[in-house]
Amino acid sequence: MPLLVMKFGGTSVADLARIRNAAGKVMAEVEGGHDVILIVSAMAGKTNELVRWVSDISPFYDAREYDAVVSSGENVTAGLMALTLQEMGVPARSWQGWQVPIVTTGQHGAARFIEIPREAVDRKFAEGMKVAVVAGFQGVTREGRITTLGRGGSDTTAVAFAAAFGAVRCDIYTDVDGVYTTDPRISGKARKLDRIAYEEMLELASLGAKVLQTRSVELAMRYKVPVRVLSSFTPGGSSGGTIVCDEEDIVESRVVAGIAHSREEAKMTLQGVPDRPGIAAGIFGPLAEAGVNVDMIVQNISEGGLTDMTFSCPTDQVGRAERAVSEARARGEIAFAGLVADTGVAKVSVVGIGMRSHTGVAATMFRALAGEGINIKVITTSEIKVSVLIDRKYMELAVQALHDAFGLDKAA
Ligand code: ASP
Ligand code: MG
Repeated sequence: MPLLVMKFGGTSVADLARIRNAAGKVMAEVEGGHDVILIVSAMAGKTNELVRWVSDISPFYDAREYDAVVSSGENVTAGLMALTLQEMGVPARSWQGWQVPIVTTGQHGAARFIEIPREAVDRKFAEGMKVAVVAGFQGVTREGRITTLGRGGSDTTAVAFAAAFGAVRCDIYTDVDGVYTTDPRISGKARKLDRIAYEEMLELASLGAKVLQTRSVELAMRYKVPVRVLSSFTPGGSSGGTIVCDEEDIVESRVVAGIAHSREEAKMTLQGVPDRPGIAAGIFGPLAEAGVNVDMIVQNISEGGLTDMTFSCPTDQVGRAERAVSEARARGEIAFAGLVADTGVAKVSVVGIGMRSHTGVAATMFRALAGEGINIKVITTSEIKVSVLIDRKYMELAVQALHDAFGLDKAA
């Protein structure tokens, strides 16, 4: 039997009626001749509630117990889904991560897969089970402690199962009907893409397009798993949506695929840093150890042996970042005269694999922003993206202007 992996996110399983709706889509795939591994998220809002409960007990909670609590939302959905399928006459059973077992590293709250053995699930398929309902987002260490993969981790569970079981495809059902050229809530002209390359999706995902967890896209790219993102609220089968695939499988020719934005950015500047070998390592080592996700980095030209070092990170990590560099300074590992945090910025990025072979994208971008009188604070580029930091209050305007400037409302 061809094997399909299907995943339903929290809003798609928010109550029993929606679980029944999702189960109907699974049954249709079974009737179409598939065995299905079905990955489920916690019911909408559940994980947030569990996280809140843990933090209310202590802000310095034991990460292992956090995982024990926070992973439980998926267990409930998995059982309810298996029951619902059984009621519909579909042979199904649920699996918690440890039962498979989905073996992960011991980084609680951010665990990574070590292995997903197939034996137990395959044996059940051989006995006539049609749907293995697996709790997403969770795993178990070799020592037997429950782990979670980080928020949004069920996407990654789904892609990992698709890779491990050689699935024909991984269908991610969510509350939007695909990947858009930009956030439709910001630009009414946003257009759904039929296909998007792994690399573009990776950039969009890590830049704040919340459709897929970034790591799920990394895995899909590495194992060449075709992923389809589609809405669970659209009637009908698994057509439509957006396919995330290899760039060779994209016929549409376009330079820019989409505009991403990320609202909660902060710009931090260390002033008066002695400009000598090792300073970058001295600064960014402690930031990494403190778990600060540094994104853009700019070192200015130095004067009198001193330079400024600017970097960006999520706004909620500013406190942690300040502490990390201040402690490194107190230990004498680095020196700087001042630290300025600007928490009122947003990042807007233009993404597209076509940039590899087309010039002028950055120029078009800067012209469009200038046309709206938007000042650029920091610029970074990679092979397939140009990102700028701007004042947060202009973020929507910038996204709209760039969407127009690259003609993204029109199909290529
Ligand atoms: N329930 C988890 C979360 O809300 C995992 C997921 O849904 O992907 O982050
Ligand atoms: Mg999600």
